[in-house]
Amino acid sequence: MLKINNFNKIIVGNWKLNGSSAFLEEFMADFTNTKLNSNTCAVICPPVIYLNQINSILHPFHIGSQDCSNYDEGAFTGEISALMLKEDNCQFCLVGHSERRQMFGQTNADVMIKSENLIKNKINPIICVGETIDEKKAGNTKVVLYEQISKGLPKTASVDNLIIAYEPVWAIGTGLTPSLDDINNIHYFLKKKIRNHENYKIIYGGSVKPDNVNEIMDLEHVDGVLVGGSSLNSKDFKKILQA
Ligand code: PEP
Repeated sequence: MLKINNFNKIIVGNWKLNGSSAFLEEFMADFTNTKLNSNTCAVICPPVIYLNQINSILHPFHIGSQDCSNYDEGAFTGEISALMLKEDNCQFCLVGHSERRQMFGQTNADVMIKSENLIKNKINPIICVGETIDEKKAGNTKVVLYEQISKGLPKTASVDNLIIAYEPVWAIGTGLTPSLDDINNIHYFLKKKIRNHENYKIIYGGSVKPDNVNEIMDLEHVDGVLVGGSSLNSKDFKKILQA
């Protein structure tokens, strides 16, 4: 299992329900000669059907899944367990992405079960938290984040095995981002103010692009970025990796 504290920069690409075998070959061909600093952690999360193909190609990325089952095995049609992901060399897994929470009913309790299973199978969870626009307008951002963290992180979580992604729901895929001060302050809150969960690596996600990544990455409490749309364009993603 990777030791998260060994990295000082974490860049994660979430392809969501996008890509194809041909797309993957072409995308990875653009990174064949890309060498990353040993303390940079770059992760691609493709649809899991491509894990085997991605393992057969030369590239500089760690591989992540976009979700995993709450269960180890049994009559759960359509599910994929943490153990199965590990057998396919998966090193990371997104948990509690807002699209899973909003469209597929994932709860903080699910986030805890999945993260526990992942850690047990030596996969690093990337737990996604973030407020909706209504929660932001009501001034409840920190209350929501506190609840997502305190109810979602399992007892086995540590700064060495788990990453937290702050992704305001209203910033995902919209072109909108919080102000730089807001990002830094919220990351400070997540890093320092939630008892028993201090000093986790916190990455920011929500409309990160080549033209805003540098100012976000330069913020004191930002350890990296989680990128959706711009991770599907190899040239954009390369610029983000170089930020
Ligand atoms: C995401 O899906 O986690 C995300 C941050 O998407 P986008 O970069 O497209 O806003």
